[in-house]
Amino acid sequence: MSVSYLGHRSGIPGKHRDGANRVSRRQALRQGSMTGGDLRARQLSHLRASVDLPSEGRKMLDLIGELFPICRSITGAGLRQSLKRVGELIPLATHEVPTGTQVFDWTVPKEWNIADAYIKDRDGRRVVDFRDNNLHVVNYSAPVNARMSLAELRPQLHSLPDQPDLIPYRTTYYAETWGFCLPHRQLESLTDGEYEVVIDSSLRDGALTYGECVLPGQVEDEVLISTHICHPSLANDNLSGVAVATALAQILASAPRRYTYRFLFVPGTIGPIAWLARNQDKVRRIKHGLVLACVGDRGSINYKRSRQGSADIDRAVECVLRSKATPFEVRDFSPYGYDERQYCSPGFDLPVGSFRRTPHGEYQEYHTSADNLDFVSGAHLADSLGTLLEAIDLLESDVAFRNLNPKCEPQLGRRGLLPAASERAQMALLWMLNLSDGDNSLLDIAERSGLPFGELRRATEILIEHGLLEECAKRRQ
Ligand code: ZN
Repeated sequence: MSVSYLGHRSGIPGKHRDGANRVSRRQALRQGSMTGGDLRARQLSHLRASVDLPSEGRKMLDLIGELFPICRSITGAGLRQSLKRVGELIPLATHEVPTGTQVFDWTVPKEWNIADAYIKDRDGRRVVDFRDNNLHVVNYSAPVNARMSLAELRPQLHSLPDQPDLIPYRTTYYAETWGFCLPHRQLESLTDGEYEVVIDSSLRDGALTYGECVLPGQVEDEVLISTHICHPSLANDNLSGVAVATALAQILASAPRRYTYRFLFVPGTIGPIAWLARNQDKVRRIKHGLVLACVGDRGSINYKRSRQGSADIDRAVECVLRSKATPFEVRDFSPYGYDERQYCSPGFDLPVGSFRRTPHGEYQEYHTSADNLDFVSGAHLADSLGTLLEAIDLLESDVAFRNLNPKCEPQLGRRGLLPAASERAQMALLWMLNLSDGDNSLLDIAERSGLPFGELRRATEILIEHGLLEECAKRRQ
């Protein structure tokens, strides 16, 4: 990610030479031809350029490693413990929604907690042990303490015959039952006889917990970043989303911001439903949003558009992806996936897309014990983070400009602007001048020109510096 600006490797010959038409940034500010928005964008971009992505990747891997052993669920101590750790890194408020609370068509369920679980054979050996891997217990299992034959136990055991060495991840959130998950090879090796079956869990009235980090900006308009935080020991789905959202919040917390940023760390499905039910008055402020999930695997970035299909967030992410040298895929909205299903339900229809690498269910390790710490990579977490920062940078700087010399082309050579640093830099100057009629924003011009928005923004800064362009006060809505 390399972004350069005026005075920083811009490479435009003569741009610092004194000249009749050269207007310094300070002069421009005094004359009102450069607004606060422009400077904010510049500062965010500088910050973005200074982010050490490899180091961020390592930090995200460390956080995933710390959170990995915790047995999370959609409620309970594991969820709270995970939010507590995230809250040590970013300003996070936790909210508790009591069991039984009606949230639209759903009811907040009982709180689930678990201390231990095992299956012991007749010799007292734990043949399946929750302490080895919390995936061994069907998440949300009701308590059980019984002796039973293998035939009686068998319907409660889940395995993957096609992946016989992996433990599947299963849940029973809204149907009170219990079960164990184990490698198919191990299941087949169980011999007849009596087993002691214990799940030391509880399902009691309590609360559903979610975390919310709000970073106020200059305006109330918001960017929503939402990630689920309810899966137990699974790295890509879903700790990668938690780690990237946390890193993004840390970076934005120290950045100048036009928008207000709201980060939600919510248990899947019921979490966003509860948030939406309790915050209907705030929903109208959400102008752009992303659901983060599966952002640490080695696949390429796969963006799923919002229900609106061509919201600014959809266009911004696509624009950034097009400007990268790496492969990517963009898919249309479908009502299947993660929590974008709730944000994009017709009663809200929020501009919220889904940012992921390999989509859930499209990798073999999905929802199995193979979605472990080896499955995620620091480089890919960092690539996800860097791409998100670019998209946010674009949204922050998506303003319209006005050409101050609109009647025929200004004479660029006389101003020392030709030849530009590259053919692309020259095209950026020409596109910015031509389309800056006060209506087209940077995003519009990036789409129409096919040029990276960073290149176009560099051109805007040069043209502003030379008194040829001004930012329009009114932002495109
Ligand atoms: Zn999942």
